[in-house]
Amino acid sequence: MINNLYQKNKVRVIAGPCAIESEEMLNKIACCIKDLGLEYIRGGAYKPRVSPHSFQGLGSKGVEILVKTGNKYSLKTITEVLDEASLIKAKSCVDALQIGTRNMTNYSFLKLVGKATCSNKKPILFKRGMASRISEWLSAAEYINEEGNNNIMLCERGIRTFEDATRFTLDISAVPIVHALSSYPVCVDVSHAAGGSKIVPDLAKAAIASGADAVMLEIHPDPKKAKCDGAQQLNLENFIKLINDLKSLTKALGKELV
Ligand code: PEP
Ligand code: MN
Repeated sequence: MINNLYQKNKVRVIAGPCAIESEEMLNKIACCIKDLGLEYIRGGAYKPRVSPHSFQGLGSKGVEILVKTGNKYSLKTITEVLDEASLIKAKSCVDALQIGTRNMTNYSFLKLVGKATCSNKKPILFKRGMASRISEWLSAAEYINEEGNNNIMLCERGIRTFEDATRFTLDISAVPIVHALSSYPVCVDVSHAAGGSKIVPDLAKAAIASGADAVMLEIHPDPKKAKCDGAQQLNLENFIKLINDLKSLTKALGKELV
């Protein structure tokens, strides 16, 4: 299997829980992802929470659970790195690294990520800052590229606007604009943009129809009991239904869902 988030004529699904809560829950999710013929699993180990009193993730233990589960189900793994310590922990054992919206403008950290991954060109999923312009986001990606890793996939995840019917406003225009302005592939994280699971399927279809190379989805065996972002996570039944719909859509576009 190619160790790359992007594959030509394929639409990558990056699904998994917001936060890894236990080995048992991640096993349930991994089993479901594998049965659907998908290749990647996501899971947050280091969580950048708005409040210090909220669940902060399992940290290193979470990374170990993710790697163990990935090996068990032959799935590639991706997790967010927040700082130097989490980067050091994850870079040698996780298949791809995610940089979150809150770190998009942390330029010294971006340089560090680029340096740490330049020898093996580990895939980097680089999210858009929630208040950043596309031009600023593309420019920030160059901090990683300049250090020798151009294996970057950009990820639109919704921006702050006056609209409060959704958690963030999904800027679907970012997909064709980034494709026109750069050579980087584009992912759309529909879960964080939506903030609620009901509109996630429609946003995922819109992302693929707009030409996205990947879609990120948060899923949980029992979203009501989730330790974070429960409202936006799909349960496994709805996830299976959505993936089957997305397979038909990608096929109609001459692509394959992986
Ligand atoms: C996440 O994907 O777990 C996450 C925290 O996303 P964002 O950085 O887009 O808020
Ligand atoms: Mn989340």
